[in-house]
Amino acid sequence: MKKEYTNGEITVVWQADKCIHCGNCAKGLPQVFKPREKPWIQMESASSEEIAAQVAECPSGALSLKD
Ligand code: SF4
Repeated sequence: MKKEYTNGEITVVWQADKCIHCGNCAKGLPQVFKPREKPWIQMESASSEEIAAQVAECPSGALSLKD
């Protein structure tokens, strides 16, 4: 499953099958990455810079940025 979330400036690509459930995203930026909510990535809750920095901390590649 592949989904995209955008704030109009950057787009986060989510590939569920790659996720190793390390928790980095929800710990690092809990106002954006909310695994229990829908949508689980809430792009309006932080700046593009903060979201991009957190996406870069995903060890599995489940989160990435669309060029
Ligand atoms: S940081 Fe990446 S691998 Fe870890 S829980 Fe979040 S999406 Fe999954």
